[in-house]
Amino acid sequence: MLSVRNLTKTYRTAGEEIAVLRGVNLDIARGERVALTGESGSGKSTLLHLIAGLDAVDGGEIRLNGASVTDLSDAGRAALRRDRLGLVFQQFNLIPSLSVDDNLAFQSRIAGRHDAAWHAELVERLGLAKLLRRYPEQLSGGQQQRVAIGRALATKPLLLLADEPTGNLDEATADDVLALARDLVARTGCGFLMVTHSARLAATLDRRVTLHAGLVT
Ligand code: ADP
Ligand code: MG
Repeated sequence: MLSVRNLTKTYRTAGEEIAVLRGVNLDIARGERVALTGESGSGKSTLLHLIAGLDAVDGGEIRLNGASVTDLSDAGRAALRRDRLGLVFQQFNLIPSLSVDDNLAFQSRIAGRHDAAWHAELVERLGLAKLLRRYPEQLSGGQQQRVAIGRALATKPLLLLADEPTGNLDEATADDVLALARDLVARTGCGFLMVTHSARLAATLDRRVTLHAGLVT
């Protein structure tokens, strides 16, 4: 479903060149849950951003459901992100001025894919029923990340991308949040690629790959 071939990315800053990705290959099947590990600075976020179409690649190809992401314009990548991908970050990134309920529905409304029954199921499965009228600042970190995961999955994306989603959570909360994410991913049948530092959390997914010296192994 996701196919990454010979992906390269070099950052050029003030006379310095950093070849972060040197020919990355990665495949994720529909419904497959993959952990991406690697040292700090190894390029995990860079790879995730490229797959999400947040940045342009230097070389190589990314295909999602057979369609090339790398051939798309900026606008095309934005549309793909809106319609086919779910994104979750370490910092939750909820919209402070919107209630939990409106945060949850934000992405799916923008994408024109709001589904009331699925929204209700997400609320139920994520244990958010009593929190719907609160605002993000009135939630714990774990609660905020549950909302962010629900928001990302509300569009029923093809692929859920998460960059250290439990990095700001204590161990027990991280376990709970990831268990919910795994269940919801199984429910939707989407692919799941999660960056994590934790070997323990990585072991709860189907497969683990590591980014080292610009390559995925
Ligand atoms: P990780 O997520 O594995 O910690 P990153 O993908 O964030 O790694 O970064 C990989 C390398 O690329 C690091 O050396 C980082 O400093 C560099 N880097 C990341 N983003 C940029 C950028 N926008 N401009 C220049 N260098 C960057
Ligand atoms: Mg990172």
